[in-house]
Amino acid sequence: MTEIEKKTIREMRFRGFGYKKIAKDLGLKRDTIRDYCRCHKLVGKREDFLAVMVKEAEAGLVCRNCGFKIEQPARGKRIFCSPRCMYRYKKFLEEREI
Ligand SMILES: [Zn+2]
Repeated sequence: MTEIEKKTIREMRFRGFGYKKIAKDLGLKRDTIRDYCRCHKLVGKREDFLAVMVKEAEAGLVCRNCGFKIEQPARGKRIFCSPRCMYRYKKFLEEREI
């Protein structure tokens, strides 16, 4: 599984998608997605694991989009782990407003 796939799984889980839909989008097996989610505490109620991620993101520990750990620079504060996540999160917010 690639880094991008892992980030996408997390991102989709935080947005409320099920294993089946994620598996289809990424071309992976449903069981692979489920196992990854189990290992990374992305199971159970979405509100619960989303709340944990949001709290960690507010503390600057993880990416606001995918929940991956962020190395903070000496100065300033990063919100996203990558330009890709920044772009995808902005796009998500825009689409949600429609
Ligand atoms: Zn990210």
